[in-house]
Amino acid sequence: MQMIRDFSFKLKSTEKKARRGEVTTAHGNIQTPAFMPVGTAATVKAMKFSDVKNSGAEIILGNTYHLMLRPTAELISDLGGLHKFMNWDKPILTDSGGFQVMSLSKIRKISDAGVEFSSHLDGSKHFVSPERSIEIQHLLGSDITMIFDECVQFPATFEQAKDAMDRSLLWAQRSKNAFKKRDGYGIFGIVQGSTFKDLREISASKLIEIGFDGYALGGLAVGEGQEEMFAVLDYAPDLLPQDKPRYLMGVGKPSDIVGAVLRGIDMFDCVMPTRSGRTGQAFTRLGAMNIRNAKYKTDEKPLDEKCKCYACKNHSRAYLHHLDKAQEMLAPMLLSEHNIFYYQDLMKDIRTAIEEGKFEEFARGFFAEKEE
Ligand SMILES: [Zn+2]
Repeated sequence: MQMIRDFSFKLKSTEKKARRGEVTTAHGNIQTPAFMPVGTAATVKAMKFSDVKNSGAEIILGNTYHLMLRPTAELISDLGGLHKFMNWDKPILTDSGGFQVMSLSKIRKISDAGVEFSSHLDGSKHFVSPERSIEIQHLLGSDITMIFDECVQFPATFEQAKDAMDRSLLWAQRSKNAFKKRDGYGIFGIVQGSTFKDLREISASKLIEIGFDGYALGGLAVGEGQEEMFAVLDYAPDLLPQDKPRYLMGVGKPSDIVGAVLRGIDMFDCVMPTRSGRTGQAFTRLGAMNIRNAKYKTDEKPLDEKCKCYACKNHSRAYLHHLDKAQEMLAPMLLSEHNIFYYQDLMKDIRTAIEEGKFEEFARGFFAEKEE
């Protein structure tokens, strides 16, 4: 029988702004800083769930937008919820659909009521409001629900960023009102405001007034570049409560993650390890590697000598180079698995370094050696 537990966050230790913590949810605990593999359409692309679990991942992300269109939240609910449907018994965070509605769908009308859009799959018309987004996330059974928000594109003018932030605050309250409190389940607010400090300050303080179980920073990693993102991260995490998890949405490269942890972020998600795995890119302790490069044709070494993934234990760079060249399905499978293992190992190393008070040193070494 599963024990009922409150959704909570425990800060275990800190090193300057870097935080080592633990999130407790209905489906288990998550050690932070944590990286969440993205399971867009109820699958971490090209990976079996047993391998996702073996990598050390303790939570994955699901996409409201994709799942509401196909196979639909109602169908997943009828089949017992998203955990049972895809057979993943650890925590799941679902995004609210806001980002995808605005970046993927074809036609749209945004008003305070919600967003009207056409599916990128078949052109069918749909409407999502904050209430509907939360209802979908309830049907899926997400451990962590995200509020429905309006994401502005980058670059945005101050007025565009302010309008989207104001509407997002209205939607934040409605999302919170629609959220059904259950033991072990939480809802996160999303701080918007693009690269404008005064907007980020207003957004954070109003969200804290409404009150959430965690806080995300949205509207970053949308093309502003690492330097500008770090400039926002130099102040934005400090606007958030110490005793709640902080999630930087859609980030990022290994160096983005190390830099963001230095600035006080606890949770990350990104398609990068799996997407790169489908285009011949591997992340390794020696930096990023393009397996398509001719120099790997006869290279008998594994991708990364210190990695314990199946690909590194069993296959050479030469074999992976061949699989990729021959467009064999096994190439993206092995590279995706390796990349997810690399990301989880990186998070483990980060957590250990914070515990030992050596994270700043770790980060210095990381930036000196491995800047992609
Ligand atoms: Zn590996």
